[in-house]
Amino acid sequence: MIRIKYILITVLITFGVLFSYSGTLDDSKKLKPDDDKKAKTKRDDTSHVQIETEDLLSDEVPDSLHFLFPSHDLYTTFDTSIVHPYNFYNEFKVDSAELTLVKEGENNFVMPFTGSITSGFGWRRYRPHYGTDIGLKTGDIVVTAFDGMVRFAKYCGGYGYCVIVRHNNGLESVYAHLSKILVEPGQLITAGSIIGLGGNTGHSFGSHLHLEFRYLGQSIDTEDIIDYTKGELKSNTFIVRKNDVESKYDLRALHTRHRRDLAYARRGAKNAKITYAAVKGIYKVRKGDTLGAIAKRNHTTVNSLCKKNGLKPNTVLKLGQRVKI
Ligand SMILES: [Zn+2]
Repeated sequence: MIRIKYILITVLITFGVLFSYSGTLDDSKKLKPDDDKKAKTKRDDTSHVQIETEDLLSDEVPDSLHFLFPSHDLYTTFDTSIVHPYNFYNEFKVDSAELTLVKEGENNFVMPFTGSITSGFGWRRYRPHYGTDIGLKTGDIVVTAFDGMVRFAKYCGGYGYCVIVRHNNGLESVYAHLSKILVEPGQLITAGSIIGLGGNTGHSFGSHLHLEFRYLGQSIDTEDIIDYTKGELKSNTFIVRKNDVESKYDLRALHTRHRRDLAYARRGAKNAKITYAAVKGIYKVRKGDTLGAIAKRNHTTVNSLCKKNGLKPNTVLKLGQRVKI
């Protein structure tokens, strides 16, 4: 039974690798005319993961342990073709989960690149920013933060040349905008292993490393895990809480909520003005108002209003006219 499971996993990985390979070819076919420059760079670039067809066609059953991917209990697949195939809300069935980042006494965390943060996690103009940008020079060495297995290593739209590493605790780390990829999917690596060289590929203006941490596809602010000033972890463990995801990390949901709250606030302010005027005993005449309607709305009588304001019951009110209540 266990052997069957291993073989299944092997098949999954093999398919992923196949898709990964054909995906790379498809991407270059899809390039628009104005992407010529990019396409040329792409062809000239040797950073693609080269996969030998003989490897894929080999009948030999590889060492199954090698293919037991990290955190296989949490993730059902090890997809090497898609950046984010996982849906947190479908997969995360508990309120919180404690992740062991590094084991007691071991220090297997390494800063992927030591540099200053140029942009943090959150909304940036009109785009959600799911990672932390660290300034670097093209060609600077980028290493993996924790031990793990490379899940994704190829060019992908806005991320440019991108490497994603799956770690044993279920966390995935994403390294984007690289100029060169030096690992391939399925490769086991340890914290501090070189995964590529920093660059400016994809949706990037100026060389930098875009670093993301994701758990079941959900992005988490890396600054909640790494103390960038000290270049070390804030704690040996990290607790993923559904509440935190809803209140801090789910940027699109937060944006929608923020817009809704703004609309409420505006409506509230409008009502507040009316209430304020009423408290002060002054009513500002609006379209369609009559003395009778104003009296009714402010729990008084037409006679009282006439007396206080020197009006006659048949006086035609003007828009914006102030009436003492
Ligand atoms: Zn970024």
